[in-house]
Amino acid sequence: MANELRFQVVGEAFKKKPLEVKAPSERPSEYFGKKVFNREKMYKYLAKDVYQKMMDVMDNGARLERDIANAVAAGMMQWAKENGVTHYTHWFQPLTEGTAEKHDSFIEHDGKGGMIEEFSGKLLVQQEPDASSFPSGGIRSTFEARGYSAWDPTSPVFIIDDTLIIPTVFISYSGESLDYKAPLLRALKAVNVAATEVCHYFDPEVKKVTSNLGWEQEYFLVDEGLYAARPDLLLTGRTLMGHDSAKNQQMDDHYFGSIPERVAAFMKELEITALELGIPCKTRHNEVAPNQFELAPIFEETNLAVDHNMLLMSLMKKVARKHGFRALLHEKPFAGINGSGKHNNWSLSTDNGILLHAPGKTPEQNLRFATFIVETLMGVYKHNGLLKASIMSATNAHRLGANEAPPAIISSFLGKQLSELLDHIEKADKTDLFTMDGKQGMKLDIPEIPELLIDNTDRNRTSPFAFTGNRFEFRAVGSEANCASAMIALNSAVAEALADFKKRVDQKISEYSGKAEFSEGSGHSAKYHAIIDVLREDIKACKPIRFDGNGYSEEWKAEAAKRGLDTETSCPVIFERYLDDASIRMFESLGVMTRKELEARNEVKWETYTKKIQIEARVLGDLSMNHIIPVATSYQSQLLRNVERMRNSFPAEKADKLNARNMKIIEEIAERTATIETKVEELVAARKVANKIDDEHQKAIAYHDTIAPMFDTIRRQIDKLELIVDDSLWPLPKYRELLFIR
Ligand code: ADP
Ligand code: MG
Repeated sequence: MANELRFQVVGEAFKKKPLEVKAPSERPSEYFGKKVFNREKMYKYLAKDVYQKMMDVMDNGARLERDIANAVAAGMMQWAKENGVTHYTHWFQPLTEGTAEKHDSFIEHDGKGGMIEEFSGKLLVQQEPDASSFPSGGIRSTFEARGYSAWDPTSPVFIIDDTLIIPTVFISYSGESLDYKAPLLRALKAVNVAATEVCHYFDPEVKKVTSNLGWEQEYFLVDEGLYAARPDLLLTGRTLMGHDSAKNQQMDDHYFGSIPERVAAFMKELEITALELGIPCKTRHNEVAPNQFELAPIFEETNLAVDHNMLLMSLMKKVARKHGFRALLHEKPFAGINGSGKHNNWSLSTDNGILLHAPGKTPEQNLRFATFIVETLMGVYKHNGLLKASIMSATNAHRLGANEAPPAIISSFLGKQLSELLDHIEKADKTDLFTMDGKQGMKLDIPEIPELLIDNTDRNRTSPFAFTGNRFEFRAVGSEANCASAMIALNSAVAEALADFKKRVDQKISEYSGKAEFSEGSGHSAKYHAIIDVLREDIKACKPIRFDGNGYSEEWKAEAAKRGLDTETSCPVIFERYLDDASIRMFESLGVMTRKELEARNEVKWETYTKKIQIEARVLGDLSMNHIIPVATSYQSQLLRNVERMRNSFPAEKADKLNARNMKIIEEIAERTATIETKVEELVAARKVANKIDDEHQKAIAYHDTIAPMFDTIRRQIDKLELIVDDSLWPLPKYRELLFIR
């Protein structure tokens, strides 16, 4: 009997028409941020002094006093009511994926038998979600299940449907962070402090340095009906089986191609919704793989950008369903074609408008530029293993190391011009770099960098951390990940490098001051000599991280190992880098995370890893046993009946000849189903062994080493069966259907 379900869902998917999306009557610039309690709304809804204090809280990290919080809450409430809001929620980013929220209504008893609607500063500022089931790695045992959420006033509240959403940090009763936001805010503060001090060598006016993040979100869309007919997609986010489609991305006809209508309607609605929520969506296009797309907003301050990415991912899922799609954020939903990443474009900038990773016009500006480039490289070099750990996950592991995405070795591409600049600073002797000019004082011989660099076309797609003209692009981040993880590690690593740079420069300045050879000219010379000397040390030291070649090549793997870079590929082992002395020292000294927090977080990482592989193993086992083997066997019986009838109809010798092809297939099915069955049994047995291990770290390693590798063996057999079993019997929508339906 033909497989009705598959043909039914495929037929329906083909028939679907694009949804009509009505654009708002206003222009995007007018409805941008309409649903956000942003500065403009604060100005309108708050008293002048309250507004001023709020600005001080947002811009300078001033303390939020209770009476101000009350006044802000009242203004917020008024705005929210005017927009039909009835509920509010503290929105936070637990260590699981995604975000969490618990909604409460504004309603309170009025003490006279009726109800009033109330929202106080207390409710705005702090809540106690009953959060005993969020992972905490043992910090907060369930019997003292208190976790607090506290408002992050630097990320504005917004409205979704009838709910006022308040971005918060999530911390335990004893003060440890249980989320991504709390350590991110601390890392951003650390990099602000360290970078501001370094800026003072060049410009004493700088008051603040901001970390910027512009993420590019890749994703797949798949028709909802087809998705529902694939238990593996539904339960694990990826296909655990499926033979390559005869046509996939080899024609490069999808990349930047015209956007299919049903998808365009989805994108349009997603963008309108996102813009209203203050997410500055800018770019949309098809990606390399069929049914793969990208959305990128304009970069923002990192904490806000992270919140916006979390929000966008959840909006994406919601809007996709409205359009009869499912958005797949998994890094590798389909084997054999490109996976999805989330490029994190990152830079630092000052409150007086200078992009510290962009080349300037004068030698002084370029010395500052070189300083920030080199110290970024120092941070990335020293903590390359940790940075890899920060982007690693069970799902992203499929992407890293495969020849399509950044390799599992962190290195940095600088391009020709920037490499030349660093080489020049490193190699030129002092008299080359400094030319004395009686009147004007010292002149720095830092070569000019052409503006051209900004549009650096000399791009290297294989580099996990590439300089792209005025920023670095951290490309190894997974599409599903919370960018905060990568941003905590990167900003901390750079903060540490900058602080260390400052310490060494200050020391050299005091050594050089007063010495005749440095004291001539403008009086700046001791300082600049000190900066250049330290930069030269660092340019030499961080050289192993610089690599402009092909990151996918085998030679690079060998070369990287020789250079002492981290080349580990096992996900649970990579997580160990968080507990290296150098990592703990860095995080503790910057006040970003304590050893206890790091240990607890690693427990969560290992546990999550195990659970993901465990679920995949179960789904693969179930599908093998109750979808694939029965269907293959039933086809085999059909063939056997045919063989028997041939024997009844023809003389033996002739029948054997005519049966040859069927016999071959019958045998192949018998062998392949037998292998599948044995392997599934082995898989179950291996799981039983691994499950007995108490230690989360060791258990994750067992899952990685003994269970995950079996998936491919089983899959190979299933994918071969897909090729020989009658198409009309095959139960699961095939790649060609999942990937080419609009
Ligand atoms: P690509 O060519 O890699 O697609 P885009 O020009 O689309 O690059 O930009 C990607 C992202 O980088 C956008 O979010 C953009 O706003 C952001 N971006 C641009 N300049 C910077 C910068 N100096 N710092 C951080 N992000 C930036
Ligand atoms: Mg990019």
